[in-house]
Amino acid sequence: MNYDLFIFAPCLKTDVKKVVTKLMMRPIQDTFPLLQNPKKIFITTHHKPDGDAIGSVLGLYHYLTKKGHHVIPVSPGELPDFLMWMPGVEHLLNYEAESKLSIKALKEADLIFCLDFNELSRTKHLGQVLAEATQPKILIDHHLKPQAVWDYGMSIPEKSSTAEMVYDFINLCGDNALIDTDIAACLYTGVMTDTGSFRFPVTSANVHAMVSDLKHKGLDHTKIHEELYDTWSINRMRFMGYVLIEKMEIFPKYNAGLIAISKKDMKLFDVRSGDLEGLVNMPMSINNINFATMITERNDEVKLSFRSKGDFDVSEFARKYFNGGGHMNASGGTSKASFVETISNFKKILSDIHAR
Ligand code: 5GP
Ligand code: MN
Repeated sequence: MNYDLFIFAPCLKTDVKKVVTKLMMRPIQDTFPLLQNPKKIFITTHHKPDGDAIGSVLGLYHYLTKKGHHVIPVSPGELPDFLMWMPGVEHLLNYEAESKLSIKALKEADLIFCLDFNELSRTKHLGQVLAEATQPKILIDHHLKPQAVWDYGMSIPEKSSTAEMVYDFINLCGDNALIDTDIAACLYTGVMTDTGSFRFPVTSANVHAMVSDLKHKGLDHTKIHEELYDTWSINRMRFMGYVLIEKMEIFPKYNAGLIAISKKDMKLFDVRSGDLEGLVNMPMSINNINFATMITERNDEVKLSFRSKGDFDVSEFARKYFNGGGHMNASGGTSKASFVETISNFKKILSDIHAR
């Protein structure tokens, strides 16, 4: 492993006020002495958490608990239904619904682990509270351009998923033997969902070696695929049909596809934001489409999701036009304009890019 990668390039952009910026993030190995005796540990992840976010948080939760620590895992908001089966999910606090308990846990914590995000604003309302916390903050993440607020950590954009990095962390601690079926299920969920079931280019030989190791430890991968992908409501399936017919636009000239979903569309089928999972990928299955966008109307903002194939860097696109970020082939951002305006702004950007 190349530890030079652990030294990060500071990036100061944030919506969260009063952030103390730190110029150097120390390597994760420097946390080992801190973990020598039992600690109170707060673990969190990004808002609207996905399989990698919750898989990483709960995988680390089980591991650190086994090591004798008192661990409180906290999600910045509610979880989508498709993750409610995960081992340990009953221990997760929801900051939006249980803010007093979460803040108490944060105040009492000795250490704070931040997983699968690298800007405090990605935790929404929890961001300000995290910014003001004075305990050591430890980052484990694979997004590009981390903010300069972490004391320790690993930031490796080449990694498939944060779950893979939690697996690396457990191994670095010399604790591979502690990986049980619960930890295996959590880490597999993270790596499988973030690699599009092992198809994206980030799926390295190390990822397959990790899955092989998890299988040897008793992983039941079929059960996990069924929990994640075969538990749709009838409404969700019909909604998918409606979206593909009524709400998807294809721009063959630009090799691009757009799906735009309003609050009214979601109400029509009684679906929730978790039911939109994976929808952005649909245009990418059309021949010659290598850029897909999904625009979703939310209560307080308009959310955009981007996916690409090949060398079109959608994290740069998200950062430049929609105050966002992410990875080269999967990113997201937000817009303060209305839903309808955001759609037309996006189309204008698309045509401007191609007119150049
Ligand atoms: P998704 O489209 O699944 O919400 O997000 C795709 C990727 O982009 C994820 O890795 C996510 O962390 C990142 N991402 C999504 N939305 C935002 C955003 O508003 N800001 C930043 N910086 N990254 C985002
Ligand atoms: Mn991830």
